[in-house]
Amino acid sequence: ISESRVADKWTKTTCGYCSVGCGMLVGTKDGKPVAARGNPDHPVNLGKLCPKGLSEHLIVEAPGRAKQPMLRRNGRTSPLEPVSWDEALDVMVSRIGSIQQEHGRESLGVISTGQLLTEEFYTLGKLVQLGFRTSNYDGNTTLCMASAVSGYKLSFGSDGPPGAYADMESADVVLLIGANIADNHPILCNRLRKRPGQLLIVVDPRVTKTAMMADMHLPVKPRSDIALINGIAHILLRDGLIDRSYLAHHADGLDDFISFVADYTPEAVSKTTGLSVAVLESVASLYGHAKSAFIGWTMGVNHSTQGAMTVAAINNLSLLTGNIGRPGGAPFSITGQCNAMGSREASFTSSLPGYRKFESEEDRNQLAALWNVAPNDLPTRRGFAYPDIVEASVRGEVKALWIIATNPVVSFPNHNLLKQAFDSAEFIVVQDGFYPTPTMEYADLVLPAAIWGEKEGTYTNSERRVSKVNAFAVPPGEARADFDIFVAIAERLGVRDRIYPGWTSTHDAWLEWQRVSAGRMCDYSGFTWQQVEDAGGIQWGGERLYRDGIFPRANGRALLHCVPCIPFAEQPDAEFNFILNTGRTVEHWHTRTKTGQVKLLDAMVPNAWLEMNPIDAERLSLRQHDRITVTSRRASVPDVELRITGIVAPGQVFMPFHFAEHNSNLVTLGDFDPISREPNYKQCAVRIERTSWN
Ligand code: SF4
Repeated sequence: ISESRVADKWTKTTCGYCSVGCGMLVGTKDGKPVAARGNPDHPVNLGKLCPKGLSEHLIVEAPGRAKQPMLRRNGRTSPLEPVSWDEALDVMVSRIGSIQQEHGRESLGVISTGQLLTEEFYTLGKLVQLGFRTSNYDGNTTLCMASAVSGYKLSFGSDGPPGAYADMESADVVLLIGANIADNHPILCNRLRKRPGQLLIVVDPRVTKTAMMADMHLPVKPRSDIALINGIAHILLRDGLIDRSYLAHHADGLDDFISFVADYTPEAVSKTTGLSVAVLESVASLYGHAKSAFIGWTMGVNHSTQGAMTVAAINNLSLLTGNIGRPGGAPFSITGQCNAMGSREASFTSSLPGYRKFESEEDRNQLAALWNVAPNDLPTRRGFAYPDIVEASVRGEVKALWIIATNPVVSFPNHNLLKQAFDSAEFIVVQDGFYPTPTMEYADLVLPAAIWGEKEGTYTNSERRVSKVNAFAVPPGEARADFDIFVAIAERLGVRDRIYPGWTSTHDAWLEWQRVSAGRMCDYSGFTWQQVEDAGGIQWGGERLYRDGIFPRANGRALLHCVPCIPFAEQPDAEFNFILNTGRTVEHWHTRTKTGQVKLLDAMVPNAWLEMNPIDAERLSLRQHDRITVTSRRASVPDVELRITGIVAPGQVFMPFHFAEHNSNLVTLGDFDPISREPNYKQCAVRIERTSWN
């Protein structure tokens, strides 16, 4: 409060951490950020912010900002040395150019993020496709929401979360599966339980903070969520709690589905999930009798080798009961990063810009005409997804990597695989707003980037709300906006005038993106930046999609999928006898590149920990706060604080993944969904041993 009194200017913007997309006001004095508070007029958060949002302005002036380009002149063992932008960009373009000349265009892999502006994603997509001419481009969004994207496409024919936060508020029953929104989407969580009589059911193996808020917590066994969902469907069908009229008019596959779920009897599902038959009957009855039922999910569903199909199974429940396209009824992916949606709509990561399909000649021709390029300048198939870029680098097919605003050394599963990939790559460029990051240990070249608060454009949140992002500070030192870096690279490649004709700012990218998205499902053409800012964000597609029951599949009908429950690959055994689950905490963001720089957040949660049930701790003679070592078949993480707690069930342990110093991804499994390519961060087998006594 005292700080806010001294601000001489307040800038409206949107939070740059998670996908809730809270509107905020940043106070500056003499151009320096001094305070942040929630925008009381913003429809998402009505003035509230979580601890990250409240301290976000502090990251702009954090000591660990990247301020100048850095180059290793004599291989990876030589130090990173400051160089000019001219030299940095010349080196980048010439090294990548010679690698592509020798090994082909696809020998460049580009890994980006969900943190850039939509305008920057659009700009980057053009540069990668039309400048560097590789299709091996993906975002770290594949480590996060790719399963939701694939699941929506499987059921409905297109990506795009069908519902809105208002549906979660107004639903009679809210079923959250693998979604600890109290920690990970706190302001969205704050919108729960506002309506008297609303019933909250939380499915999670842990007793998370969200589970503690619930009317019913279903502590399922790890990876038994599909069995639970199929079991609910079985009871809905058995008891006639389905919307036959909706299904007849709007969905295919009912007959096959009825046969398929016949085996998912309450008794069978009880064995798989560990829930009693009475609980299963009760949940299905509550869900089936609800006037409106909302299903939300996040990483507990997506971070799985069956993530895409689990999303399809969730969509089945919404279709069976007609809970889609109407108030309070939606299958709803609660996205991770502030602009993961912008990445998947405007870039090339999961489809061509504007949700155009790689394999559709009509879509490619349309985009080529809009861009004034030949149709065969556009790829007919998706390039390597993020994990495939990593594996291709290990195989020696991808030889140059450009990594933008992400920190895979901490965030990618099975660190050994990543290390092999980075050791094999001939040239690695890391572009980031912070220096040094653990990933920069492998960088041949570092490009310093501006961050949130220093750039102008838009983010799109989980409910498809396009919100304005404004600058209140200038980038430190020689750091440049990602947009400016992309344009400067295009200039050196000799394609600037062709791909960015007359562009001088992100607003030019916005105007072209509006034209390219016009008439598409994710249509940005109907509103201006100013209108977006004035309204506190505008949802493309309106408040909810599929209001008319027509889906973007060839016949206009959604599809019910038969989704078998497949046990995860690395089951515990005598040697590795715990199942490790990983996740997050409210105080930190991803790999702490940003939140680790905020003293308050760092002081609140400075170190990693491992949660273990008291029964297991007693069996192993471990005491509260002992230091323990976590070991999997791949590696060990030593010296982690033990927390003995009933939050986790016997046989399961939990670790947050934020901490480079105690990196849970040293031990996680490099096991990926065959459809979405999303990793399974949630189940691997480990053993726990004491490192030292408390
Ligand atoms: Fe920012 Fe998400 Fe917190 Fe809102 S809930 S303030 S968007 S981190």
